[in-house]
Amino acid sequence: MGEKLDHWADQIADEVMKSRGKRHLIATGITPSGPIHLGNIREVVTAYAIHRALQDRGAISKLIYIADTSDPLRKVYPFLPKTYVEYVGMPLYRIPDPEGCCENYAEHYLKPFLEALCTLGIRLTVYRVRELYAKGIYSQVIEEALINRSKIASIIEEKTGRDLPSDWMPFNVECENCGSITKTKVTGIIHHQVEYSCGCGYSGAIRYSRGGGKLLWRVDWPARWKALGVTIEPFGKDHATAGGSYDTGSEISQKVFGYQPPYPIVYEWIYLKGKGAMASSTGVAISIKEMLQIVPPEIVHFLILRTKPEKHIEFDPVRGLLQLIEEYQDVERSYFSGEGKDAHLRRLYELCQTAGIPEKIPPYIPFMHMVIATQIAGADVKHASQVLKRSGYSIDPNRLAKYLKYARNWLDSFAPDDFKFTVREELPSEVAKLSHDQKRLLARLADNLKNQRWEAEGIHNNIHEVTKELRITPSQAFQAIYLCLLGKRSGPRAGWFISSLSRDFVINRFLDASKS
Ligand SMILES: [Zn+2]
Ligand SMILES: [Zn+2]
Repeated sequence: MGEKLDHWADQIADEVMKSRGKRHLIATGITPSGPIHLGNIREVVTAYAIHRALQDRGAISKLIYIADTSDPLRKVYPFLPKTYVEYVGMPLYRIPDPEGCCENYAEHYLKPFLEALCTLGIRLTVYRVRELYAKGIYSQVIEEALINRSKIASIIEEKTGRDLPSDWMPFNVECENCGSITKTKVTGIIHHQVEYSCGCGYSGAIRYSRGGGKLLWRVDWPARWKALGVTIEPFGKDHATAGGSYDTGSEISQKVFGYQPPYPIVYEWIYLKGKGAMASSTGVAISIKEMLQIVPPEIVHFLILRTKPEKHIEFDPVRGLLQLIEEYQDVERSYFSGEGKDAHLRRLYELCQTAGIPEKIPPYIPFMHMVIATQIAGADVKHASQVLKRSGYSIDPNRLAKYLKYARNWLDSFAPDDFKFTVREELPSEVAKLSHDQKRLLARLADNLKNQRWEAEGIHNNIHEVTKELRITPSQAFQAIYLCLLGKRSGPRAGWFISSLSRDFVINRFLDASKS
């Protein structure tokens, strides 16, 4: 690797290797308390890019994802049945799946997320917090936290300005009677056991090396760093404030656990254009599953990796998506043409690939053409292939089938109405609205198109020439075209659109309409 690779992931990799050597454990953690969305996925995509940059430098790097399955349900989110009020305060792994298909609540939201990681080409090791505790991985750190509880309490008090009660404990027990983890209180510690009482009236004792409870979040996080040996961790900006959980966690890690806190990578939110920061609790979000139904995985990496973690990303799934795909295709073309001397863009392209770098450039087709093709041909790959061929594009059937699906899903979920159309098989009754001038135009176009080279720009220019000649306004001209093909006054860019239909079909339709 002669040339300097200066993607931000490379810079971070250089920095951590300088300060902490060649062995790294990168931890990510998203609580499966609801549908995991595009904003959450930023954490894993960011971590994965750094993981690859480290490996490219010969470092030994491991990437893990920790699912906090023991986190309590905090409230009845808008996507849950009202009856879930009875589970508030219970750890997620104990709560039934709201849709009844998986082992429990946590697994229900983990499943599509883990599938998405697979699609994104992100390989990592998955840990579930409940299992880590049950296997005794945390025993040592729990003991240290319990012994040093007053030291921890004063760190939290000093950093956050909060007052903690004198009997404060860093550990929460899951009540053996009612299952709540938020209503219990540790009342004593004897020999690797904690005694507790619960708001439900129950009291008992558990062995903390066997699960049955967990450290409070602010202590759990630094305890995890030490227990697992985390050296790098990306996290959202909400954890990064002064007095926030990274701040207190770092202090606890150093002063209580004697462990150097991981190299922090603070990332900003992804905003949904016009709606605000993505969060599943407010419903302002695109789940990662939905996202992967409208774009290939490379585009998800591209959306996230082209922006530095500390800058927010605004995502517009409506019109902005077309531009995003176009920008990715530009980077792809310059990568393969060798024109892009820009090492940063080349590296960005490499980091976006989910299954190795393609040997040759994938076929270039503007997404808009897919949107038109799928509306003309439906899911019929052969027909769609003909439609695209008319516009000068060719693509293998497997890839085409996939792309048609993306375009169809986008049309169904996000496309503005002016992108949607159906080509009428018969002359639409709406042609009754055509004026005398408009009919003249259609007759003339029908004639011209007989000898027209069948490509978008030529057809487009031809329409404009005839329009000028006949002295009618362009808007009248285009309305006539759309009315006789689609039965409505607007449609996709006329040149592109017409070139994707068959010549005979268009000519006959224009003639029929001109005589109607
Ligand atoms: Zn399920
Ligand atoms: Zn209880």
